[in-house]
Amino acid sequence: MPIKAVAIIGAGIAGLTAALALARHGIASDIFEQAEVLTEVGAGLQISPNASRILDALGVLDALRPVWLEPGEIRLVSGSSLEQITSVPCGNFAMQRWGAPYGAAHRATLQKALLDAVTANALCKLHLGQHIDIKAKQALEDLAGRKFDLVIGADGVWSKAHALVPGAPAPLFSGNIAWRFSIAETAAPAMLDKANVTAFLGPSSHLVCYPIRENAAFNIVAIVSGNSASRDWGAAGSQAQRRQMLRAFSGWNGAIVQMLEAQEKASFWPLYEMKAGRWHNGEDTVLIGDAAHAMMPFAAQGAAMAIEDAFELAGMLATRPLTEALDLYEKHRAPRIARLRQRAAFNQFAYHARGPIRMARDLVLSLRPPQSLAADMDWIYGYRAAG
Ligand SMILES: Cc1cc2nc3c(=O)[nH]c(=O)nc-3n(C[C@H](O)[C@H](O)[C@H](O)COP(=O)(O)OP(=O)(O)OC[C@H]3O[C@@H](n4cnc5c(N)ncnc54)[C@H](O)[C@@H]3O)c2cc1C
Repeated sequence: MPIKAVAIIGAGIAGLTAALALARHGIASDIFEQAEVLTEVGAGLQISPNASRILDALGVLDALRPVWLEPGEIRLVSGSSLEQITSVPCGNFAMQRWGAPYGAAHRATLQKALLDAVTANALCKLHLGQHIDIKAKQALEDLAGRKFDLVIGADGVWSKAHALVPGAPAPLFSGNIAWRFSIAETAAPAMLDKANVTAFLGPSSHLVCYPIRENAAFNIVAIVSGNSASRDWGAAGSQAQRRQMLRAFSGWNGAIVQMLEAQEKASFWPLYEMKAGRWHNGEDTVLIGDAAHAMMPFAAQGAAMAIEDAFELAGMLATRPLTEALDLYEKHRAPRIARLRQRAAFNQFAYHARGPIRMARDLVLSLRPPQSLAADMDWIYGYRAAG
């Protein structure tokens, strides 16, 4: 018999998508979120067709498309010469090849679109200002005043729901730091491209820039190696950390160096990732999104995987006995996540290459037609999640 009621910890991308996906199958959920209000947390997100297809099925895409940017292409550009190395086509090409749009928006825009759909759905109940730190499902039932068949831990990389899942993967510092900031379109240097996603590549570091249309600003992320393993996301980096970041870009094009030097308020995000581990306890608790498999942003797929997890888990729960659905969820999702981790690691190697490897990379990439680079993305972007 399918389950009837679920407790979801966390109203991030994973948790809100799970609530909507479950409601689609008539399953009710209570979502417990620690924040008092869901405000502008995070920065820009690229939302690839494998995820936007699901947002469409959940009735959320129509709210996003008028406001987000659909880039014409994803460009790889040399961080020293500013010359384009190659590009992967998006825009109409994405619609035709992968059957859904490729968009870029602020995380808050996606979260708000999901939240509006959750608020409008009678089967979803959101409880804000509830920091959950529990050792048993019972505590959540006492809080909500109802029984739950299942707890979904969608509470991100520092998940407290891990306590309910023996063998859950632990977050490990990756050795990389993301520096994030935004620049108003009116103040942006000329090398920032208003129509496309641009990844500037250089030795041991890279910089991703794209416009956030709804904020009339560019979202910029600089990824460099670093040695601080602070748990805080979005904190201001220290002066010493800032100097270390600037040293990593010292040989880059002067316009990029100048732009970075001017960012006194860039926020500092130590990047944590998880290796393989258990995602459910075989009984009544399951992890999704970053709580299950936080990954490096080199393939820009963390939120997309959270959306896929939520959608596929809901479909499995609706059609199978609970424990069978939990087993299937982990067996089915783990190989895809493992393959994506490998892709992210490969991208890190290729993006941050130095010396002769870098020259070989540029040559190989420049000789490959954009269509063939797009074909490399088919298994990621063309994936049709079953919900
Ligand atoms: C630099 C960078 C760039 C990225 N770019 C992309 C990209 O372009 N595309 C992409 O797909 N992904 C990208 N990602 C990854 C993406 O941001 C994450 O994978 C995604 O946000 C994970 O969503 P989530 O809902 O699992 O977790 P989170 O977004 O962390 O949400 C967890 C929620 O749970 C709440 N919570 C936590 N603990 C508790 C608790 N104890 N009780 C109650 N509530 C709790 C939190 O307040 C939060 O609302 C990027 C990540 C980084 C760092």
